[in-house]
Amino acid sequence: MSAAPPVNLLGCDAQALGRLCAALGEKPFRARQLMQWIHQRGARDFADMTDIGKALRAKLAAQAVIEAPAVVGDSSSPDGTRKWLLKVDGANAVDAVWIPEANRATLCVSSQAGCALDCAFCSTGKQGFSRNLASAEIIGQLWLAERLLGAQAPRRTAGRARQGRQVSNVVFMGMGEPLLNLDQVIPALRLMLDDHAYGLSRRRVTVSTSGVVPGMDRLREECPVALAVSLHAPDDALRERLVPVNRRYPIRELLAACNRYLERAPRDFITFEYVMLDGVNDSAAEARALARLAARVRCKFNLIPFNAFAGSGFRRSPPERIARFAEVLRRAGLTATTRKTRGAEIDAACGQLAGEVQDRTRRRRRIPLTELRA
Ligand code: SAH
Ligand code: SF4
Repeated sequence: MSAAPPVNLLGCDAQALGRLCAALGEKPFRARQLMQWIHQRGARDFADMTDIGKALRAKLAAQAVIEAPAVVGDSSSPDGTRKWLLKVDGANAVDAVWIPEANRATLCVSSQAGCALDCAFCSTGKQGFSRNLASAEIIGQLWLAERLLGAQAPRRTAGRARQGRQVSNVVFMGMGEPLLNLDQVIPALRLMLDDHAYGLSRRRVTVSTSGVVPGMDRLREECPVALAVSLHAPDDALRERLVPVNRRYPIRELLAACNRYLERAPRDFITFEYVMLDGVNDSAAEARALARLAARVRCKFNLIPFNAFAGSGFRRSPPERIARFAEVLRRAGLTATTRKTRGAEIDAACGQLAGEVQDRTRRRRRIPLTELRA
């Protein structure tokens, strides 16, 4: 009989490490030590864990590994944005993007290689779905960013949220739909929040969804963090064209799920993302309709100027139209900000992420909307 494959400790949250230590006959505090070594000190070799006895280190080395995805591309934009291409198996690679600002630094992570949901304006969606990332591949993006950036900048920028860290915020706005991969996303979220790992506050970790309602309910129960919902249209007819999952979960159900989420959310509002597409969803009448919808949920709007990619068939709304749209929302008493486009020179802006998804069975593997499970 062949031996069981090694466990990748990188993706294990406190519970999973606790179970592993118990199985090895070790005290619970060992789990905490392991977590600190892996996530706070960036260890990947058990031999470095000097306060863990030799015998235990040998046992761990025999049945576990600490393995992050390999970095196969690394590009920097003049605005400081950095994008890594990470190999997640033989055929696929995904992107992670680091966006430094004056008083925070945000890491945008991917949750799947490709995406099954096929939003009309999204380059990830155009590639189809290849596979879910494992929790180690998701948290591995943060682990790598801290290691790679920390090694280069031993003196930290003042004002970044927590001393010694290069990432103060995480957003699940890279490739994939996080709420269709919750089994792996939840342990990664728990590690982001764990004080013995990254210690990020729930308010600084944002999951973005195209509106997978059962996933919103599950996230609310198991690990409520800040939530962004990709709305993109004020009515079902238009939203179905842009975000096909709307056929399964129409706007009325989506808004009800937002209100349920707010009962447990760390912030008292949902962020609605709204991509600005020239002549498609950007009229003043659409802004007024959106304001009427928004009256039903405590929310803020984030308008995203569309980022073009080859063959998309859409154009970005002109700046005056975006400004007018925002003004209509503000007059209705809503908060509306316009996202600054960062990293476009290296194709790192929202919706430009393409990774290297090899999916020869794209059509077959696109999940029928009736089969969506969170
Ligand atoms: N699947 C999730 C999260 C990843 S996409 C979701 O859809 O919310 C992150 C954000 O980028 C979403 O709001 C998405 O609608 C937006 N986006 C996708 N393609 C884009 C493009 N070409 N230009 C601007 N924003 C885009
Ligand atoms: Fe998937 Fe989000 Fe892109 Fe839609 S916008 S195809 S849900 S990644």
